[in-house]
Amino acid sequence: MDVRTRAVHVVNEPLGEGSRPLSVPLVQSSAFAFDSADELARAMADPDGEAVYSRRGNPTVRALERTLAGLEGGAAAMSTASGMGAISGVLFALLKPGDHVLAQRCLYGGTYSVLADLAGRFGVEVQYLGGDDVGEFERAVRGTTRLLLLETIANPTGEVADLPGLLAAARRSGVVGVVDNSLASPVLCRPLELGADIVVHSTTKYLGGHSDVLGGAAVFADPALHRRVWTRAVELGATADPFAAWLTLRGIQTLPLRMAQHCLNAEAVARRLAAHPAVAAVHWPWLESHPSYGLARKVLSGGGGMVSFELAGGRAAGRAFVERVRLARLALSLGGVETLVTHPASTSHRELDGPALAAAGIGAGMVRMSVGIEYIEDLWADISQALDGS
Ligand code: PLP
Repeated sequence: MDVRTRAVHVVNEPLGEGSRPLSVPLVQSSAFAFDSADELARAMADPDGEAVYSRRGNPTVRALERTLAGLEGGAAAMSTASGMGAISGVLFALLKPGDHVLAQRCLYGGTYSVLADLAGRFGVEVQYLGGDDVGEFERAVRGTTRLLLLETIANPTGEVADLPGLLAAARRSGVVGVVDNSLASPVLCRPLELGADIVVHSTTKYLGGHSDVLGGAAVFADPALHRRVWTRAVELGATADPFAAWLTLRGIQTLPLRMAQHCLNAEAVARRLAAHPAVAAVHWPWLESHPSYGLARKVLSGGGGMVSFELAGGRAAGRAFVERVRLARLALSLGGVETLVTHPASTSHRELDGPALAAAGIGAGMVRMSVGIEYIEDLWADISQALDGS
């Protein structure tokens, strides 16, 4: 079935005979009681069997995991306490000292920090590459390369990775391909269908969609890989809480509708910004002027909800803009129903100096906007009054 149908009909396994709840029951229990010691022992030996203890598995969390596996077209999924829980779980489970990792240069900052830690304290060699050059991957790959880490849409530049090309090259070399699909969501891209082995998500973003829950997930093409990572995530304590899973399931039911509106609003905002005299550049992957435009049309079924733009007035103008908006809010996250703005040069990327910012493709006057699903004319009225003062 289409992703729009799968999202509405999240996995909801019957609890017993007779009538049953339409919504997934929230099983808010840390542990599960058994009548027999043998049954408990059997359940402990089978991670897919009856629930024993919620760090290892819980019916509400499993409903989310099966729903996510269905949306991404995977064999199995693991829900985690946050996006970083999923990313750390995957990296710590699959890497050991002496291994070599190839990672896209413009990764989310938290992912970059985990890789720096793996390199600095655990002897993993990390090498960065662009996201669109298969030749660069082929020159860099070696016998010890274990993992390739990419993001479908990079934050805040909107760069789109060449998933089909790079994932096929990784597969040819026996390298595990991992894609962070948080900014695209399974509505706009399903990397497992393009050759990825693992998809990771911050479900805090579009999947949850209402800025009220933290969560993450990893979805696997191969059940054996799932088992390996799940075992480590259980040890790390990275697995999801049932209430967070329940909120995420509730969010997922409207994901396709929300994504459609995010994309429509983002396109209107991007095109109007591009025509505004206070704006020096606009970064939205489905805009013809974006360097990733060709790839974005191939890999994504919509341009996504994140629009970044450079204000001609530089740093002061960027800061003024994020303080002048009234309907949009100045806040760090993205992917919720409401429009959020940040000024990366003074927040998420404040440790970078001018040249390092430029190398990351971020101007001092850049504003990142997570375009929400408000009525576009109200949103544009807010953006234009804020532009007039910056
Ligand atoms: N991946 C991407 C692309 C993100 O933007 C984020 C958070 O902003 C994360 C992962 C981390 O997710 P979380 O904050 O849920 O741990």
